[in-house]
Amino acid sequence: MSITHAIHRLTSLLGEGLSLSKPVLETHGLSETYFPPTPPDAVAFPRSTDEVAQIVTICADEGCPVIGFGAGTSLEGQTQPTRGGISVDFSHMKAIRRLAQEDMVAVVEAGITREELNKELRATGLFFPVDPGANASLGGMASTRASGTTAVRYGTMRDNVIGLEVVLADGRVIHTGTEARKSAAGYDLTGLFVGAEGTLGLITALTLRLRGQPEAITAAICAFPSVANAVACVTDTIQMDLSMARIEIVDTATVAAFNSVAGASMPETPHLMLEFHGTESSVQEMAETFGDIATDHGGMGFEWAARPEDRAALWHMRHHAFWSVLQSRPGCRSLVTDVCVPISRLAEAVSAAQADISASVLYGPILGHVGDGNFHAILMFDPNKPAELEAAKAASERMVSRALDMGGTATGEHGIGIGKLNYMEREHGDAWNIMGDIKRALDPQNIMNPDKLVPPIN
Ligand SMILES: Cc1cc2nc3c(=O)[nH]c(=O)nc-3n(C[C@H](O)[C@H](O)[C@H](O)COP(=O)(O)OP(=O)(O)OC[C@H]3O[C@@H](n4cnc5c(N)ncnc54)[C@H](O)[C@@H]3O)c2cc1C
Repeated sequence: MSITHAIHRLTSLLGEGLSLSKPVLETHGLSETYFPPTPPDAVAFPRSTDEVAQIVTICADEGCPVIGFGAGTSLEGQTQPTRGGISVDFSHMKAIRRLAQEDMVAVVEAGITREELNKELRATGLFFPVDPGANASLGGMASTRASGTTAVRYGTMRDNVIGLEVVLADGRVIHTGTEARKSAAGYDLTGLFVGAEGTLGLITALTLRLRGQPEAITAAICAFPSVANAVACVTDTIQMDLSMARIEIVDTATVAAFNSVAGASMPETPHLMLEFHGTESSVQEMAETFGDIATDHGGMGFEWAARPEDRAALWHMRHHAFWSVLQSRPGCRSLVTDVCVPISRLAEAVSAAQADISASVLYGPILGHVGDGNFHAILMFDPNKPAELEAAKAASERMVSRALDMGGTATGEHGIGIGKLNYMEREHGDAWNIMGDIKRALDPQNIMNPDKLVPPIN
């Protein structure tokens, strides 16, 4: 029983579908943020659920770790094989198995990315709304319970995944959920696997809820004298129940990165970026109401982007903010925070984070999905200066501590992986041990993405 035996047997099963090539191993051991590389022993590229089930069965026999891999864009070291083993890369499983337009439902394989899916859906008048910015895979998005810029209107993966096909740690294949809009039939196993970060099984297919493309869409950008003004504007907007499709904040440092790296020419002050979906008249009405609220909070220099290409440019810039900030400090790496607080505490949480970062040695632009009370600080550090990483970790810890005191969470969307493990006990208390019990029940050998999410096991 060993990883070597598992590789031997997987080679017989998959042939060229198992890679031992150094560059491939290295890519699957990397982190987008600050975790040191930890390559797997091999990378499997299955083409069907049956192959995934056979891979897991062999790994279970051999006691070999199995780590799901979608697009590798997660930010908390989730895909890193801390004990070696087999990375199962879903990039060859991208089929749309079924599209029920009249029910607004699609059944897709786990490896398709959200951009690929939406491209396929374009002609149908439907789209899949969850948008984490990165072109992540649907299996990875479900596994991290991702959300992003559109969650304020359309919800997160929890709200938009209604069923799953999962290969369990013993190789059994199960189906959860139905295509019905609701069900009261027993435990919500779909909800259990959504957000499980591959620690309970591998998702091979997902049943997704689709949405109709709105008749009218308008995006806008608006400058504010301070982050506090912008956040107060967001809080009022949400409390007035104005139906935003997106409402994002970028602080002065992020705008400076847009200007220096992304070719923007924005006044260097905090901005809100927003989008309204609806009918021509409702969009117009919402935009006017928002304009009034923004003016009350010192908003200025509104720019509207109704043309698709202008909107695309605006959101391209927002989605690439992480890369713009990284490029603005060549050679630096980042630790990205992800706290989420009740909307009434948002202004306080953002101001405290800003003050904390300013008082430290850190450079840490702030941006985020403020409509959900969720914001990120991209805490930059020089990898050659260990003290800077320690300062970033300490600032992140203070941010989480404040968020938990406010009734919030350590992570609104990026998940736990390795990076946020230290906060789980404080956030969940004994409920974290229940997560460990579920893990042990479904994966008694601890082969599915070990060392992530649950309390330490052997
Ligand atoms: C620039 C940038 C911006 C981002 N913005 C956002 C954002 O706004 N909102 C947000 O939520 N996230 C954001 N993220 C994080 C990231 O995009 C999400 O975590 C995303 O859901 C990861 O999907 P992936 O396909 O890359 O998964 P991976 O990184 O490959 O995997 C993520 C986790 O899922 C597991 N996994 C992958 N596939 C499967 C499967 N088929 N079955 C079981 N487990 C599996 C992996 O083992 C791992 O634990 C951002 C990342 C970047 C780089």
